[in-house]
Amino acid sequence: MTELVDAALRYRDDVTQFVRDLVAIPSFSGEEGDVARRIVAEMNALGFSEASTDAMGNVVGRIGDGPTKIVLDAHMDTVGVGDPGAWAHDPFTGKVADGVVHGRGASDNKGAIASHVYAGALMQERGLDGADVTVYVVGTVMEESFDGLALGYLLTETLEGVDAVVLGECTDLAVYRGHRGRMEMRTTIKGKSAHASAPERGDNAISAIAPLVSEIDDLHNRLGSDDFLGKGSLAATNIECTTASLNAIPDSCTIHLDRRLTFGDTLESAKAEIAALPSAARASIEVPSATVTSYTGHQLEMDAYFPTWVLDEDHPLVRAGLDAGTMALGSAPATGKWTFSTNGVSSAGRLGIPTIGFGPSEEKWAHTVLDQCPIDHLVASIAFYAALPAAIERQGIGR
Ligand SMILES: [Zn+2]
Repeated sequence: MTELVDAALRYRDDVTQFVRDLVAIPSFSGEEGDVARRIVAEMNALGFSEASTDAMGNVVGRIGDGPTKIVLDAHMDTVGVGDPGAWAHDPFTGKVADGVVHGRGASDNKGAIASHVYAGALMQERGLDGADVTVYVVGTVMEESFDGLALGYLLTETLEGVDAVVLGECTDLAVYRGHRGRMEMRTTIKGKSAHASAPERGDNAISAIAPLVSEIDDLHNRLGSDDFLGKGSLAATNIECTTASLNAIPDSCTIHLDRRLTFGDTLESAKAEIAALPSAARASIEVPSATVTSYTGHQLEMDAYFPTWVLDEDHPLVRAGLDAGTMALGSAPATGKWTFSTNGVSSAGRLGIPTIGFGPSEEKWAHTVLDQCPIDHLVASIAFYAALPAAIERQGIGR
């Protein structure tokens, strides 16, 4: 056992208690204020150089002040609990059984927050292993509803010049380097209203859009695939029309599309594919947007576009992750990708900042009534995150 792993092990009880505390504070999307205050208090108690929240309510704790800037991100919000009776353990107790912490958010993503914060303590203890870097330990808001929005805000408004982002989303202690993107589209065809007793006087928007639905199903089957990320997908998920009355010809019909994007797919290419369908000649295609309000009252506009991102297997940040993983685990971790979407859509997908993931627990527990995180994973993650700044510096990132 290395000296680093030994040092991380000394935080085993503290990190376990901290995850339990975090699980016990409900923090659904848009309601992260209490958990944010708890995290800032822990950072201050552990002697972080700085710990505060930004205008959107994201927590930012700082260690070191070197020129290379590294963000360790985990989101503070969770999804709901569904039927409380379906849970074997209370979702808000942080019950420990057989070396595993149970409860809502244990896997997604509070285990990572706790490991990040205690890795921060270990980094300070070890003087960042001599690495001349700044590490920001970040807890973001609203990832479950608007992936990427809060981290994108933080990387452009709160911090500047960040060189590398490490996401704490569950990877089962592997190094992940990307995932598929997604977007929504609203495709509308306009018609002309008339009395339904004489449909030939009007132009029925439902009839006009009907063939487009089967063309969309066909397009799904023709979509490209990528060896690493897999296949893109396309599905019509809703249809609505406007009509003066149930005895009038509808003058507008809209279908809502869900598009999963693989490597090479972009917002423009996905829109162009729809526009090129034979029955889309008269259609308008738009990406919906929404105004989002965080728990601090801060408002941001967001488009329903979450870009695909992949970091090359040979990228220095992936190599740094494998290096840190080898130190923390005793052998090189696997590499892989997420099935779900993460805040990487903004850090890597929109802003082009090199991003990888390493986190405790497994994706399969996220959003389930079996939400859980093994305590051994918390300790291994502390060792990984603490080893990372020096590993990143060895790869020359940020220089
Ligand atoms: Zn998550």
